[in-house]
Amino acid sequence: MTDTAISTHTDESVADFSARARAWLTENMPPIDPENPPFMVRAEQQSWDRAKELQQKLHAGGFAGICFPREYGGLGLDLAYQKAFNAECRAYEMPLILNTPSFTICSATILDVGSEDQKRERISAAIRGEEILCQLLSEPSGGSDLAGVITRADRVGDKWIINGAKTWSTSAFAADYGLMLARTDWTVPKHAGLTMFLVPLSAPGITMRRITEVNGNEEFCEEFFDGLELGDEAVVGAVNDGWTVASRQLHHERRAVGGGSEFASGTGAENASEMPPDHVGLAEATGQSGDARVQDLAGRALARRIVKDQLIDHVSRCIANGSLPPNAGTLIRLFHAETTELEVDTALAIAGTAGVIDEGTGLQEIGVRYLSRQTGSLGGGSSEMARNVISERVLGFPREPAADRGVPFNQVKRNKG
Ligand SMILES: Cc1cc2nc3c(=O)[nH]c(=O)nc-3n(C[C@H](O)[C@H](O)[C@H](O)COP(=O)(O)OP(=O)(O)OC[C@H]3O[C@@H](n4cnc5c(N)ncnc54)[C@H](O)[C@@H]3O)c2cc1C
Repeated sequence: MTDTAISTHTDESVADFSARARAWLTENMPPIDPENPPFMVRAEQQSWDRAKELQQKLHAGGFAGICFPREYGGLGLDLAYQKAFNAECRAYEMPLILNTPSFTICSATILDVGSEDQKRERISAAIRGEEILCQLLSEPSGGSDLAGVITRADRVGDKWIINGAKTWSTSAFAADYGLMLARTDWTVPKHAGLTMFLVPLSAPGITMRRITEVNGNEEFCEEFFDGLELGDEAVVGAVNDGWTVASRQLHHERRAVGGGSEFASGTGAENASEMPPDHVGLAEATGQSGDARVQDLAGRALARRIVKDQLIDHVSRCIANGSLPPNAGTLIRLFHAETTELEVDTALAIAGTAGVIDEGTGLQEIGVRYLSRQTGSLGGGSSEMARNVISERVLGFPREPAADRGVPFNQVKRNKG
């Protein structure tokens, strides 16, 4: 690796930036076959260690955090530069797993609403490839009603004492800090009594366990907080204004999950389960390439992917120019989930029994992948909740009735236990 000092060239044209990136990548980043990229298995610690190593290289070369402001360790450039870099880095190994949630959701949220110290410390440590951030929102009692969290943060002296539990935290085992939503006031309606904290995951008082998924992976974690002590410096935004922070986080999550975040660096799939299935190759492998029904199925899936890519461009442009509200990012997120389901369902329909029974074809991974077909419809909020957001916040339909609206949280009826 060359010893290039970090430099930013705000007067540099996108074309010059591209050319500089091309030259640097050739000399410094490990090349790959873009048609057959290596995948980082998110459930394995070694993938995260490798991602940090690659991020450190990008940072040393002056190509990390392209759209993050310079004062927080980024380059302060706009999306056109990030897109140009994405086009150049396709043929190189990139730390793609750091994109979501660490950069596109957590760092983006801290950038919007964090304190100056949080921005200077956490965002720049992530850009330097030294730290990873995760989200601690969902609880065992449910994730859709995020404002109904029951993890509590009680003020004792000059400390916050945290007790409760979080679950489904993506890659928390590899993370250093997590954005954690807790209840700080039980006497006001649910949205008004929340505070977001930035939690150091190695602190005493946290027990973390990994969750085994239906496909055998262990990427998700659950965390138990027993008297975890935090100081005021851990508060993100204002005390009892955690809903504002959570709303920014959800906004960034919808854009990230749908593929529309300027803070994602590099393109392509992080792992095999993200790659669009190769329906044409599958039809050939199963001797059905001449079958009109199979051609029709594959064509529908391909058309949906093309529409999805165009929808991402269109919605991102409209949010940027103000012709659609920020909540319109939910359109991308919903369409992404439905496209993934269609693609995976189509792959299994073409593979037929070879996708689930060992017939010596090696196609069983399609059946395994089918088990996780709905992750996109749950992660970042379920598709049903996405439809609610679109109807209420984009189309302006009447709000869903809620028995707890305006009721102090300690008077809301809840299941016991
Ligand atoms: C891939 C993936 C990654 C994730 N990563 C994280 C993470 O990093 N951090 C984190 O905190 N959580 C994470 N989650 C959890 C995720 O946010 C929750 O699964 C999601 O919010 C739904 O919550 P739940 O599973 O508890 O379902 P519930 O909230 O119990 O909902 C159950 C069902 O009821 C429906 N439903 C509930 N309320 C309504 C309503 N008002 N209107 C219509 N339908 C409704 C839901 O759509 C769902 O189908 C992740 C989940 C997945 C799948």
